[in-house]
Amino acid sequence: MGVTISGSVGRAGDNRKSDTRNVQKLLNAVFPATPLHVDGISGPKTIRRIERFQKGFMKRPDGRVDPESRTLRRLNAAAPGLQKKWRGDSTKWSERKKLVSLDDRFLSKVVRVLEALESEGFKPKIVYAWRSLAEQQRLVAEGKSRTRFSFHNAQKKIGVPGSYAADIIDQRWGWGREAEAAGFWQALGRIAKAHGLYWGGDWRTVKDFAHVQFYPNSRLGAVKKQSGFA
Ligand SMILES: [Zn+2]
Repeated sequence: MGVTISGSVGRAGDNRKSDTRNVQKLLNAVFPATPLHVDGISGPKTIRRIERFQKGFMKRPDGRVDPESRTLRRLNAAAPGLQKKWRGDSTKWSERKKLVSLDDRFLSKVVRVLEALESEGFKPKIVYAWRSLAEQQRLVAEGKSRTRFSFHNAQKKIGVPGSYAADIIDQRWGWGREAEAAGFWQALGRIAKAHGLYWGGDWRTVKDFAHVQFYPNSRLGAVKKQSGFA
């Protein structure tokens, strides 16, 4: 599972080119905003980037990634976007795959919210469940999101998605006016909150009517850390 290397990479490492390239790709998946050149050369920038990643869980970062090390496991866990299964535009996934990408406890609540909406005559559909950190940075660059890490990016330590957020629309109306007129957003907010979830329609500044999440916003930093993002 995940990326493997044949020798150590970084400070005083074996620094084989193919290994170094693999580590650089992992680092770029974790820090997509400022990517390294994937050149297979373990220079000062690559070493500093390894140290930056290690700061999240090591007292004294050593700037090196060894084949069976905690740093490599953590890198793999923090970069699920590199795993084929979870790559690409997550809005295009099947509804089932979107559900699988949610954290288990959140999933059971989302399923009940969807059922309740259906029983009221709506046709709910998930647009975004989990999305990769790379996808998140793209949304920020396009002005569609303001946060570089969101509950949509949360993941389990073993390197699989575990989103704590989902964006739900009625498939007939999307974000169009009809959704508001038909009372869809109000119904989504009411039902989500009845299940103990938090609703983006309650945000004070930029309202996010389709968005529901498992935790209050105050937990975002803790979830980011749990997800392996230092
Ligand atoms: Zn959202």
